[in-house]
Order: sequence, then structure tokens, then C-alpha cells
Amino acid sequence: MTQLDQSNIDALRSLQIPKGCNIIDGTFEPAATGRELEVTSPIDGAVLGSIPDSDHTDVDKAVDAARHSFESGVWSGLAPVMRKKVLLKWAELIEANALEIAVLGARDNGTDIRMALKGEPVSAAATIRFYAEATDKVNGEITPTRPDVLSLIRKEPVGVVGVIIPWNFPLMIGAWKVAPALAAGNSVVLKPSEEATFSTLRIAELAHEAGLPPGVLNVVTGRGSVVGEALGLHMDVDVLAFTGSGHVGRKLMEYSGRSNLKRIYLELGGKSPNIVFADAPDLEDTAAQTAASIFRNNGQVCVAASRLMVERPVYDDFMKLVRGHAEALSVGDPLRLENNTGALANSAQLTKTTAAVQLALEQGAVLSTGGAVLHHESGGFYHQPTILTDVTRDMDVVQNEVFGPVLAARAFDTEEEAVQMANETVFGLSSAVWTSNLSKAHRMAGRIKSGQVHVNCFSGSDVTSPLSGVRQSGNGADKSLHALEKYENLKATWIQI
Ligand code: NAD
Repeated sequence: MTQLDQSNIDALRSLQIPKGCNIIDGTFEPAATGRELEVTSPIDGAVLGSIPDSDHTDVDKAVDAARHSFESGVWSGLAPVMRKKVLLKWAELIEANALEIAVLGARDNGTDIRMALKGEPVSAAATIRFYAEATDKVNGEITPTRPDVLSLIRKEPVGVVGVIIPWNFPLMIGAWKVAPALAAGNSVVLKPSEEATFSTLRIAELAHEAGLPPGVLNVVTGRGSVVGEALGLHMDVDVLAFTGSGHVGRKLMEYSGRSNLKRIYLELGGKSPNIVFADAPDLEDTAAQTAASIFRNNGQVCVAASRLMVERPVYDDFMKLVRGHAEALSVGDPLRLENNTGALANSAQLTKTTAAVQLALEQGAVLSTGGAVLHHESGGFYHQPTILTDVTRDMDVVQNEVFGPVLAARAFDTEEEAVQMANETVFGLSSAVWTSNLSKAHRMAGRIKSGQVHVNCFSGSDVTSPLSGVRQSGNGADKSLHALEKYENLKATWIQI
């Protein structure tokens, strides 16, 4: 059942979700305490299932299993080509079960099924394949020394990697970290978000089916403040890779300082600027992509272009086009193909969105469209795509991430002013510039403080290109061959010959 049609989706959504289990040392087990967390679906607020409410005992056990598997060489000691074989098989199994996995994930986090399919299993499989292929193609180095010395740089796995991920795209983001960590020969302990666990458990199960040895990929579910903290404070985790909020990112750095100084890699939030010059190549297409860049997955996208700046001569016309696209979106049950926007992931996200809109209006923003909760009777969490205009630098909606379907728009007059606006927050994750002037595009790309700049498009970058936030958007890179560096130690061997 792999085809994206309504009857297949309906059949898959009617399946009972199996009880969530931790995966430790290749076995499926409940939390040591036997406690469980109830999981509700954002589609209708109904109970979906349960996951282990794990604690530090489960984390200790998972880290021990990871350490044991690492030291045994059962994975770290394999020829890279053998690791590649298992990872490629894993990607194949994920693709073969993609629709089932996407429906499972959408029931858990509310992402519309088209995006859930493309952005989750399909994207994760592509990422796993990319790093699988890299295992036997990335070399060590020999440095240029005097002739009586051989100076080698080996790239060695770090050992045990902890991975903590959010709920918006658990498989895509999880694969960005787990795939390079495994490709480099490490063992992993993965903690999914308690708001989106089931699809991660399913693909971890497939990893074992693909031949990943027990203990190499362990999954411990539960609350961030318990399981995540235990992982962050653990004395035997060498590297911790995290995607999520800045608030938790700061805690992880503290945990590292209070424990073993493990390396912490953070992919955090953003407030990405989208800058439209009057000479953009095609204003209609720019408007369509502008709406998609903030409203896809309800704005619950780290790189969402939540701040729009438009050059004044085209501002009114352009805003009319964007408003048209926002109002044409069909928001509703994410598993119905007639909808192109699903539910917000949980009630907290809905509350955060309505509060952000309310505050913006109190601070002087103007409601151009949207602003209301939808489908209240369903029991789920739905909100209209919302555009606020006349925003100013000091407003919360300009400075703080909403992580909801809220666009803050205003006009600018000069290139210099556009640069100032682009760089006016503490973030630096992504950005976009629309212009037909090549020189202007390059000048802007050079001056915007962000890890990613799009020109005449938004998004669409693939796994070959890094996502590496600057300023308070994070450190290190997900995606691209550079991501491997996070999960490797460089060992210098200086040989007198
Ligand atoms: P979050 O920070 O609340 O949670 C992320 C993960 O951290 C979850 O697994 C959670 O259980 C865990 N956690 C919570 N408290 C913890 C603690 N004290 N110690 C250790 N772990 C803990 O974030 P979220 O609400 O799941 O996700 C939304 C945020 O993620 C947004 O800020 C968004 O911008 C960011 N995000 C960033 C990217 C990126 O690539 N830069 C991608 C997606 C999401």
C-alpha cells in the first residue's frame, strides 16, 4: 500500500497503533518503572496510544548498550562498505513502507499527508542513502611535511552520540543526525519528542530489520525534562546533537558543563527574512512561494520565512497576491487529500499562535487576513493562515519565533534598509532575496547574517547543502558532508620514517 490515494490513507489511519516501546540493545521494552505517557492526536484530540515514560534508568541502560556495541566493534569495526550495505537496506525499507510511516506520523503531529510523505520517510531515506554512500568515499588526510615524516589525519568515530529531536519533522531531522553519526561508525541513543514518537520507533524497528546490530541505535522515549536531561548529563555520552528551542539548547550547554564537557551541537529557532525587491523576476510566483514558505506545515518549520519585507513600489499589489494564496489554503484533517494544510501539533502550539496574534494586534500590527481558530468542534488544533502588516522592529511578532501560521509583513525603501531589517533579530537560520539584479542578489547574500540564503526561491535545498544556523540559531551543520565532522574526532599520527 504505497500509493498516495484516499482509500489507502483511510485504511492506514484505521490501524490500531501498537504500544510504544523503548528499543534498547535490540530489544523492545517498556520503561523500567512501567510508567506510560498517553499520546493524543492533534487531528481530533483523541487518545492515539501510549509511549514509555522513561527515566534515567532507561537512559543509563541505553547508553551502556551503545557503549558496549561501540567498543565491541560490531559496527564501528566494520569495513565502511559493510556499514553502507546496512544503511542502504534501511533506506530501502523506509521507502517501501513510506505511506504507512507518513500516516502514522501525521496522526501523531498533524502534518498534512503530502508534506508528511515527502518531508518525512522519503526525505529521511534520501538522507540515509547520502551518508551511506559517503562511508567509503570520504578519506583521511596526509599533511605536507618534511620528507622524513609521515603525518596522518584519521577521522575516528567519537563513540556514543546522543540525539534529541523535536516534533515537527522527526524523521527528516532525526536522519540529518542519526545517519551521519552511524555512517561515521558511532553508536547512538535517540530521544524523540514526546509529541511525535511513533514514526521514529517504526523506522528504528526497520533499522534492525535491515541488519543494524543490537545496541547501535537505541531509542528512549519520554519527557524532555527527564530523558533529555539524563542524556545531557550523562558522563558517557561523547557528543549530543539537538534540534529544538533555544531555551532547551541553553540547558544542554549547561548539562555539558556540569558533566563530561560533551560536545553539544544545536539547531535552534529562526525568524527568517524574506526580502522581495520590486525587480523580482515573477511577482506572482514569488507570492505563491512566499505564502508556502510561511504557511506550509502551519509555519512549524525552523526555516519558515516568518518576516516579509517588500520594496514599497510593489508592496500593495504583492500583499494582495500573498493574501490570495493564504486565503486559498484548505486547512483541515491532514489525512484528507482535499486539504493542503493540517493541524498544529498540539494544543500548546495553538495557544501560542493565538496569543502571538493577539499581542501583535495590541502592539499595533494590522490584521490583513486570518487570525481565527478553525474547526473547534473537531477537538483538534487548527488555525487560519494569518498575515499581519504594519509591523515594526520592536514588536514581539518581529523578534520572537511563533512557530505557527503567522506572517509579519512591512515595506522597505532602500537596499540598506532591507539589510538592516534582515539582521534585526538574534537569529540567523535562513533567508530569501528576490531580485533580477545579479549584483544586488550577491550583495544581499553576503550581508544577510544567516546560515542559508535563497535567491529567487524559498527552500528546495537538498541534503548536499548544509543547514547551519549562526548567532542564536545554533552551531555546527546538519546535512552535507560537513555534518560528518560533528561525529568524528581527528587523530593526528606523526611518524618518523
Ligand atoms: P523543544 O526544545 O521544546 O523540544 C525539543 C526536544 O528537546 C524534545 O525531544 C524535548 O522532549 C526535548 N527536551 C525538552 N526539555 C528538555 C530538557 N530539559 N533537556 C533535554 N531535552 C529536553 O522544541 P520543540 O517544541 O519540540 O520544537 C520546536 C523548536 O524547534 C522551535 O524553536 C524550532 O525552531 C526548533 N526547530 C529547529 C530546527 C532547525 O533545524 N534549526 C528544526 C526544527 C525545529
